[in-house]
Amino acid sequence: MELDEQGGLVIVAPRHWTKAYINATLAQNLPRVERFLITARKRQLQPLLYTDGELHLYLGKRYPLVINRGSGLKSSVVFSGDNFRVENGEHDPERIRAALQNWYLEQARKVFSARLQEIANRADWVDDRSIQMKLRRMKRTWGNCSSKGVIKLNTHLIKAPLPVLDAVIAHELCHLQEMNHSRAFYVLLEQLNPNWRQDRTRLRSEGNLYLL
Ligand SMILES: [Zn+2]
Repeated sequence: MELDEQGGLVIVAPRHWTKAYINATLAQNLPRVERFLITARKRQLQPLLYTDGELHLYLGKRYPLVINRGSGLKSSVVFSGDNFRVENGEHDPERIRAALQNWYLEQARKVFSARLQEIANRADWVDDRSIQMKLRRMKRTWGNCSSKGVIKLNTHLIKAPLPVLDAVIAHELCHLQEMNHSRAFYVLLEQLNPNWRQDRTRLRSEGNLYLL
């Protein structure tokens, strides 16, 4: 057993083992698999150092930080699709962190509102002109929905893969109609995101990585 970069489980097995056989073996050894995941993921949660080449998450993928020791007094981030380039005169990790957080926030504003719009269009109980979205960097909550219909999303979700982000948004949109986790709530959620169980499991297992 190994971990991939996102903290997912990688099984290394002989070529002739079938998928069904691997799944059955895993199912029989669940406690061991879970123990492995817990300890390996803890080890993976090293604090970020903001050094050249360090990998940072964006929408579920990791990209290296390329630090240009140029003249720039202000640190700014340019994302090329392959890496994050940061101008930073004297290599101050704190400034790089702040610049990257600003960049994440800008992307989160764009990406989250586009996804919210798209998913709201599929929720017939939602009048999408009335949705208010707020972003916060939160430690323990991925999203919530107030009784006034304000949907608050955790900015750190910009590091999650799109299906995981969409799942949080779908969950909160269902709260616009059902403020609790009643059966009626799950009926709506099932319509909007039939995959919600897998998405929730993924968020629970990888979520700590987004919070770094
Ligand atoms: Zn809820």
